Amino acid sequence: MTISVPADVISRLKAVLGEGGWSQDPERIAPKLVEWRGRWTGTTPLLALPKTTAEVAAVVGICAASGTAITPQGGNTGLVSGQIPQGEILLSTERLRAVRGIDAFDDVIVAEAGVTLAAVHEAAAAINRRFPLGLASEGSATVGGVISTNAGGTQVLRYGTTRNLVLGVEAVLPNGEIWNGLKRLRKDNTGYDLKQLLIGAEGTLGVVTAATLKLFPVMRSRATAMVGLDAPLAAIELLARAKAETGGGVEAFELMKRIGMGFVLANIPDTREPLDSAPPWYVLIELVSGEPGAADAAMERLLTHAFETGLINDAAIAQSDAQRVAFWKVREEQSAAQKPEGGGWKHDVSVPLSRIADFLEEATAAVERFHPGARVSAFGHVGDGNLHYDVLCPPGGDLKDFLARWEQGSQIVHDIVARYDGSISAEHGLGRLKTDEARRYKSPLEIRTMQAVRAAIDPHRIMNPAVLF
Ligand SMILES: Cc1cc2nc3c(=O)[nH]c(=O)nc-3n(C[C@H](O)[C@H](O)[C@H](O)COP(=O)(O)OP(=O)(O)OC[C@H]3O[C@@H](n4cnc5c(N)ncnc54)[C@H](O)[C@@H]3O)c2cc1C
Repeated sequence: MTISVPADVISRLKAVLGEGGWSQDPERIAPKLVEWRGRWTGTTPLLALPKTTAEVAAVVGICAASGTAITPQGGNTGLVSGQIPQGEILLSTERLRAVRGIDAFDDVIVAEAGVTLAAVHEAAAAINRRFPLGLASEGSATVGGVISTNAGGTQVLRYGTTRNLVLGVEAVLPNGEIWNGLKRLRKDNTGYDLKQLLIGAEGTLGVVTAATLKLFPVMRSRATAMVGLDAPLAAIELLARAKAETGGGVEAFELMKRIGMGFVLANIPDTREPLDSAPPWYVLIELVSGEPGAADAAMERLLTHAFETGLINDAAIAQSDAQRVAFWKVREEQSAAQKPEGGGWKHDVSVPLSRIADFLEEATAAVERFHPGARVSAFGHVGDGNLHYDVLCPPGGDLKDFLARWEQGSQIVHDIVARYDGSISAEHGLGRLKTDEARRYKSPLEIRTMQAVRAAIDPHRIMNPAVLF
């Protein structure tokens, strides 16, 4: 593997990609070398823009033969910098944009890797179906990206992560061969499930070029509410009651803290306080049902009982689409709203639901001891036990000094996560950002086994070499 790429390899890549299929223009490439949070920047000798699976195979074949490293990139919304090259060839899927087919009997869509999640949603809606993977980044995040990161999002509670939503994958393996695994079967029990290896592989086992995704019926009723609570433990109790009330009809259950809501209201235009009482904690709940009106009735029953038993202290049920969108906006902008507050130590963790409240209390006390005045803005998909546990610089504090303590501060948080039998990366992956940190928490056996799988598929380690073990 070489990171400085020989001129003859570049010439051969340009020749197979043809005009419009590559770029070395710094202005064209620049946006692809910076990640969303601006924490990482990269370099590349060539941006490869293949238009077909055959062109991807030709690029990977040349790289394999010459030991040249490749970083695949989709929408560049990844939050752990796996998509930012450090000298590798940057292979973008932005021209792999075809929806190859959609079928209401099989309930599938076959989409190329560069199709955005929003475009998948649109295509599904056009045949009265839905693809239930919702991310705030869905306007840019791509099919190849969500598969490679096993993305989660807001509907995991009911539909699972991307791993549960993919029936088939087409990929170019690290030796340049095309694997056509674009099946659309719900049952195929014939040995190792190779597509599952590629899901969540973060670009280390090949380039995903297309996928068959599962579609679902459109729900006939949906009710959305914003609820105010005193403490996270009440949220966990409310979730258990909501599951029982609906028989599994809870589609989203998102936690937010007062401080994060304050950042949104102060820093994001066109947002308003969803609850007049401005409670210490908020939960955004979405219930669904196949029966018209049933989700609204279940929400009324759930919240009335929760009020009467003192579990919640405020609630508003969305009365219109506009109000529902407004509730989601204050949730989806939680991360962006932190930017004007200065930098933070970001964590994407999960712990068993039963331990969320204890984790929050213990981690927050530990962070306050380590860096007095630091502001904890925890929010996220709490229904899956997943929190974005972000720690921001104290107001007026020395940001440089604060960011220099990120690694140490994160270790404190992650050690507590590990003690609660949790994960230090619930949904974003490891990328370049967290691979070293993950070595502290994965067993040697797990790391050795992952390395053996990788070495079998990519013996020269040309695919995203600095990502994963
Ligand atoms: C505002 C915001 C909200 C977000 N919310 C969520 C959330 O709720 N849940 C969640 O899980 N994530 C979330 N993310 C993270 C991100 O959107 C997801 O990780 C997404 O799946 C990345 O897709 P992408 O196309 O942008 O991939 P990229 O960022 O381009 O790449 C991500 C990784 O996948 C690899 N890759 C990309 N395409 C391919 C391919 N075709 N073949 C092989 N490897 C490939 C890259 O090398 C890299 O390692 C959020 C991000 C932002 C900015």
